[in-house]
Amino acid sequence: MHRLLLFAGLLTLCACTTSPTGRNQLMLMPDSQMDQMGLQAFTSIKGKTPVATDRSANRFVQCVATAITREVGGNWEVVVFKDDSANAFALPGRKIGVNTGLLKVAANQHQLATVIGHEVAHVQARHSNERVSQKFAIEQGLGLVNALASPASGTGQTLMGLLGVGAQYGVLLPYSRLQESEADMLGLDLMAKAGFDPRESTRLWINMSSNNQGQPPEFLSTHPSHSTRISDLTRRIPSALQLQQQAKQQGRNPNCRP
Ligand SMILES: [Zn+2]
Repeated sequence: MHRLLLFAGLLTLCACTTSPTGRNQLMLMPDSQMDQMGLQAFTSIKGKTPVATDRSANRFVQCVATAITREVGGNWEVVVFKDDSANAFALPGRKIGVNTGLLKVAANQHQLATVIGHEVAHVQARHSNERVSQKFAIEQGLGLVNALASPASGTGQTLMGLLGVGAQYGVLLPYSRLQESEADMLGLDLMAKAGFDPRESTRLWINMSSNNQGQPPEFLSTHPSHSTRISDLTRRIPSALQLQQQAKQQGRNPNCRP
């Protein structure tokens, strides 16, 4: 009986949960717990991957990330990892990781802003909460944070995958096509509002898929490309250009150099 009431309560809660684009979402995890999970995952990654000391790379990434996160607010921790695989991620709890390898694919500030905007959009739309909710029951909540403290365990590996940090840290669990489209659209608006050129977004995705190193970038394993991605973005670019124009008029005109 008690359980049934709890379940009914959750369903009511779920019905009111919609994503920024108006999509219904299943959200069972308290956001505070998702933040804790993001923090724990970030700590695990920092324990495994060296931080890049290259000053110009750090300055470049911080400059772009600061411009993007200013649009969503809050204090974000941004770390550049010394890792040749082209990857980046953002976690609940306002954590952003960018690998040095990504800087070879993202050719300028606008393309890096495309990736960071897309990543921050995943966090803004609470996609990790949705993914964890689909996989685990709510009673496991606190246990899940603990599981992330031992990322090599089975649950730890699955959770790292659900947080979207990439195959090297856990089980490979790509974002769904719906979540990808949502992050593309929200991310595009976000980069434009920060003053970056939204037209570079399609070039970034083309760079991603035509990476001439032979194998596709790590980033695409968790953020799969779909056939309509470029046309969907292209259709939204005119309105994004207006947002960029407004941003420039308000003095938001970033000049971050690699
Ligand atoms: Zn994505």
